[in-house]
Amino acid sequence: MDDFLVIDRVSKSFGPLRAVDDVSLAVRKGEAFSLLGPSGCGKTTLLRMIAGFERPDTGRILVDGQDITALPPEQRPVNTVFQNYALFPHLSVWENVAFGLRMSRRPRQEIRSGVDLMLDMVRLTEHARKRPAQLSGGQRQRVAIARALVNRPQVLLLDEPLAALDLKLRQHMLLELNTIHEQVGTTFIYVTHDQGEAMSLSDRIAVMNAGKVEQVDAPESLYETPRSSFVATFIGDANFFTGTAVELQHEGYVRAVVEGLGSPLVLSNGAISMNQTVRLMVRPEKISLTLKRPLSGDRVNAFPGVVEDTAYFGSHTRYRIRAGAHSIIAQLQRSRFSGGGIEPVRGTEVWMSFHPDEGRVVRLEGGA
Ligand code: ATP
Repeated sequence: MDDFLVIDRVSKSFGPLRAVDDVSLAVRKGEAFSLLGPSGCGKTTLLRMIAGFERPDTGRILVDGQDITALPPEQRPVNTVFQNYALFPHLSVWENVAFGLRMSRRPRQEIRSGVDLMLDMVRLTEHARKRPAQLSGGQRQRVAIARALVNRPQVLLLDEPLAALDLKLRQHMLLELNTIHEQVGTTFIYVTHDQGEAMSLSDRIAVMNAGKVEQVDAPESLYETPRSSFVATFIGDANFFTGTAVELQHEGYVRAVVEGLGSPLVLSNGAISMNQTVRLMVRPEKISLTLKRPLSGDRVNAFPGVVEDTAYFGSHTRYRIRAGAHSIIAQLQRSRFSGGGIEPVRGTEVWMSFHPDEGRVVRLEGGA
């Protein structure tokens, strides 16, 4: 069955605050799933309810068809990797990993083979005799993961797993976590406020805002077709325009007049009716910049502006461009500016353009 971990209409309040507000989710077996959202959105509270450290006020939590809502943490088929890893400083790496199996009084041979297998999986065999203090941050985290996986939980919860690591190590561990997940095939649930992390670690992501789930989708769908402005801005950067639909065109496009832009925009229609107010979104990297007005064919969604700021990032450059009442962010790969070798600087007049398929209607207002 597809739905392996089921959150069924779960709510949790702290005093007057609804930290988790009627959340329903279904996570598949073996999936890498993230709860993503800004600080205070309720993701940690939801994770703690799955782990059993917190009881929901209402709703149920099921794993593989079994209702675990009332079970204490140690009786759930769930284990947690905490943000600070919570390793025993006086025990060796090997003994840290063995701890859970010793507590459940497993036969000595089973403990030995289980721990050896896990250490091999997280590539720490040669560090087995060290204490946590003798390890790097990334190695410590791998000990924590091995320790949580050794008694074969059905679901592994990882709370901000990369927060304690520096940037370089974080990038390395992103790849490492994906490999570990692939190898063990266990259902992983990450909690993170970092969209990049969630995007690269997850098969699917639940974006949370103020106790509610705004959208659940694969990373690419969240990025390409966000259903709300909140999701569009939380997952990557976005330029927004508010417009009025003035023409419904064939092949599913809509022409909208945007105040203060001087040129109508044509976008994929997101089930809009005529004269409806719409919110339109285009990602910075979907905008092309040219010095001259684009030739016919590319004329749709082409409008002039003046560069206000540029920021060079090596792999790409970002431009802030004033177009009428709008301040628009465009982002180009270094090689993509088609301006005949001239790099736009502050004050350069440029044309911006984007293909109708690259624009999105993210929120419908005042209509069906
Ligand atoms: P962060 O990334 O900062 O940890 P979060 O999205 O994980 O944020 P939660 O920790 O789930 O958010 O908290 C959701 C809300 O519930 C917050 O406003 C928080 O202050 C509140 N909250 C969480 N735990 C408790 C508690 N034990 N008592 C009172 N309020 C709490």
